[in-house]
Amino acid sequence: MKKASIVSVGNELLNGQTVNSNAAHLGAELLTIGIPVAGSFTVADEIDSIVRSLEQACDEADVIIATGGLGPTDDDLTRQAMAKFLGVELELHDDLLEKIQHFFNRLNRNMPERNKIQAYIPAGAAALPNIGTAPGIRAELKGKLLFALPGVPQEMKRMFEESLLPELRRFAGGQAVVVRKLKCFGAGESTIAELLGDAMERGRNPLVNCTVSSGIITLHIIASAENETQAQAMADRQEKSLRNTLGELVYGTGDQSLEQVVGEALARQAKTVAVAESCTGGLLAKLLTDIPGASRYFAHGWITYSNEAKAAELGVPADLIEKHGAVSEQVAESMARCARRKAGTDFAIGITGIAGPGGATEQKPTGLVYISVDSDQGCDTERCLFSYDRRFVRLRSAQTALNMLRQKLNN
Ligand code: ATP
Ligand code: MG
Repeated sequence: MKKASIVSVGNELLNGQTVNSNAAHLGAELLTIGIPVAGSFTVADEIDSIVRSLEQACDEADVIIATGGLGPTDDDLTRQAMAKFLGVELELHDDLLEKIQHFFNRLNRNMPERNKIQAYIPAGAAALPNIGTAPGIRAELKGKLLFALPGVPQEMKRMFEESLLPELRRFAGGQAVVVRKLKCFGAGESTIAELLGDAMERGRNPLVNCTVSSGIITLHIIASAENETQAQAMADRQEKSLRNTLGELVYGTGDQSLEQVVGEALARQAKTVAVAESCTGGLLAKLLTDIPGASRYFAHGWITYSNEAKAAELGVPADLIEKHGAVSEQVAESMARCARRKAGTDFAIGITGIAGPGGATEQKPTGLVYISVDSDQGCDTERCLFSYDRRFVRLRSAQTALNMLRQKLNN
């Protein structure tokens, strides 16, 4: 199997001013065509550092992709480093110079003298067209492919897609790779890894990878085979087996969010929902209404932060709050029931909890949240204890509520 190596050039990547999204993008793209990234280097805007990392990258990979440092300023040194690494001179390409001049003419500007450098390409290498001014570079060395792409993410992506992908697909040797994503919510990474057992072992085909972002666990199934049909069939079998093991924990595929899946289920079943929120301050309503077409199912939301509001706006009995406290199973349930009655919806969700950091007592710690989902099938309440910080508690509360509603819709 062919491997790739990425060289990300730029001081801004080293000092934390810019997150290296180019490397992430390239890594994901290369994986889908069966050229996994074996190593990634991030280097300063210095010729010798860039040359050294190109050497290392070449040692371990068949495809080397550098990004950044192709601009017109003195700190843009990738093209010089590339020439030095290849052991050749930079050559002026008249056609490139014309293109760059044309780029500025169209903007009614004269080309700054310093942009002329962008018309230089290492001898023997080819220029790759760009929507910006800086052309990319393609070179070959001892059967390996070397590319230099612009740093601007938009330009980099476009150039990769248009100029590199077709060639790299062929270079990969026709191995078909299918990548599929299963989205899970409701258990931590380690629980999922335990459930999956040896399905997540390295070196397997299909390979199963796990990533976590904002409480959502994504399982990536990567199947490679001689042809697309075989790879698809392998991915199908793997997906089926994972779904069997994980059951309800899998809520969707691809890039689906919880709110999207819940919204689709509500719309499909022609059901409506209302929310009564306390500690999430409207976050649940926000998530639900982030989805275009939410008016089909989202009817009404209350943010009843104070005890008075819970009583006056929703009709939660004041003595219930008095007796059990605002953060209690009884109040969450009452919030959901009252909201459903007032809004006349099929479902209603009540959330009450302590987002922290203040407001905790011994019986009611920070992160304690009660979530109720009411329907004509009855009211289900979960007692949750979320850790970390306020942001986390609030997000996890809203997500858990969505997930409870999803499960109720499934049954
Ligand atoms: P330019 O012609 O704009 O100078 P360039 O090819 O020289 O293009 P850089 O100067 O290195 O590219 O970076 C241009 C912009 O792209 C900067 O805003 C930089 O922060 C961003 N950028 C560079 N490298 C990356 C990266 N690896 N990930 C995300 N953004 C990046
Ligand atoms: Mg630059």
